[in-house]
Amino acid sequence: MAKFDNNFVDELRMRLSIVDIVGRRVPLVKKGQNYWGCCPFHNEKTPSFSVAEEKGFYHCFGCGAHGDIISFVMNTEHLEYPAAIRELADMAGMKMPEYKPKSPARQKMEDSYFEIIENATKLYQQLLFEPAGADALNYVRGRGFTDDMIKKYRIGYAPKNNIITNKFSNLNQSNLLATGLVRRGEYGMYDFFRHKLMFPIFDAHGKVVAFSGRSLDGSEPKYINTTDTELFHKRQTIFGFNFARDEIYKKNRSIVVEGQIDAIQMQMHGFGETVAPLGTALTEDHIAILCKSNRNIIFCFDGDNAGQKAAARAASIVLPFVRDNSDVRFAFVVGGKDPDEVLKTGGVAAMHKIIDDATPLIDFLWNWTNQNFLVSTPGGRTQAEKFLDTELKKITDKKLQYEIEQEYKKREFQQWRSWKKTDAPKIKLPDTDLVTKNTLVYIVNNFPDIASQYADFLSSLNISFDVDAPDLGWDARAAEKFIVSLKLQRYRAALEQELKIKMQGMINGENYTNEELGDIKKKINDVNQRLEKLLYME
Ligand SMILES: [Zn+2]
Repeated sequence: MAKFDNNFVDELRMRLSIVDIVGRRVPLVKKGQNYWGCCPFHNEKTPSFSVAEEKGFYHCFGCGAHGDIISFVMNTEHLEYPAAIRELADMAGMKMPEYKPKSPARQKMEDSYFEIIENATKLYQQLLFEPAGADALNYVRGRGFTDDMIKKYRIGYAPKNNIITNKFSNLNQSNLLATGLVRRGEYGMYDFFRHKLMFPIFDAHGKVVAFSGRSLDGSEPKYINTTDTELFHKRQTIFGFNFARDEIYKKNRSIVVEGQIDAIQMQMHGFGETVAPLGTALTEDHIAILCKSNRNIIFCFDGDNAGQKAAARAASIVLPFVRDNSDVRFAFVVGGKDPDEVLKTGGVAAMHKIIDDATPLIDFLWNWTNQNFLVSTPGGRTQAEKFLDTELKKITDKKLQYEIEQEYKKREFQQWRSWKKTDAPKIKLPDTDLVTKNTLVYIVNNFPDIASQYADFLSSLNISFDVDAPDLGWDARAAEKFIVSLKLQRYRAALEQELKIKMQGMINGENYTNEELGDIKKKINDVNQRLEKLLYME
């Protein structure tokens, strides 16, 4: 039997949900913690076959069949182990690794890697408390780190000189280079981290696998991380996870913040379930790691535009992992602060409030859509609906997908297309599209008299004046004609909308008289006639 790299098989288990895999063959229904269906391994009419999603196992109380995704595929499709792995890898979109038994040389390389990294960690820790590390120590204490915290997170200092290159000069060069701590340049070897505050990056078991170095002299980038090595993959490592794992399980949720210092401060202030991705980009591997414990995640981002964008990205990545019992939320820290500063200025209570006020995923996506598409226009609404469709398709539970879709349909109808009777005389005009906006800006700039005459209409359009308007070479009459035609067109669009909604209402059993509908149709006709006249007016 061929063997596969354990990491690969683990990742396969992590990426694929047993409910999805079993669900392809056996209709499952959720009851309590588990999913239930009729056992595919013995004949039965009442379900005694259970699937525990978080644990990744199935168990039949009728015939005792028991196993994970791999044995399920082997037994239901009558495949050998390697073929089952291959099929699952296909489903997960993962490339099969070439089968390579760990050679003695490879084992040696791994041993040396961890030994060098461990020794470097100790060296950096020691240097932080020596005179060379004074700046770094001041900085980290200034950020509110106690000596206990410095010790727990094994924070250190990489000095300005090539300390690793020199101290480890007796080691095999390729082993040293493999750690990413040292590089080969034009003038020989040099240290990758110099004059940096050093945060060790731990694997899930607490072993240091890499480093993240913070610049101390204001140079950019603020953080540099060990580049991916054979034993360290940024995409698959979450900062703080080794410390947070138990808490994530106990509190039944995880919190994801943007930076390492934030993660440490959160962990030290009662939010032990906090982690941070390395660098800015969150990956599906990060989510998969968190989802091994549970699928309740609070993302905490900066409240600015970049933070909103990052949150939208996170939403898109997390959607395939969402289940009917998931609680995924988005918290925003406003005022240009990060969680570390909130904890310092407002204390734990302020941070609790931000976390407790977090917006549920479904509302976040809705708000984001409303802010990023011009939903007051038919084109904008179309784009918005397409966006939501694409996002919702990522949800693997089709029933849940349908339920959320229905919720959005309801909101689209109530919020985007609502036309209240009492508002009828006062028409709220939709935003102008860019061509019209350019034209209007041209008119406002060139014909101030006309602009003031139609000031009410123009201000209702919310035009900003930062647009370069093309020279249309118009005279005042043409400009006025344009404004009037635009007013009429918008009035007509509003009437058509009202008509549509009332007709829809009649289908749904609301009572409108034919007279009411006829009245709107008559108004639309009037507008059409006026528009035509305008067109031929000299
Ligand atoms: Zn059975």
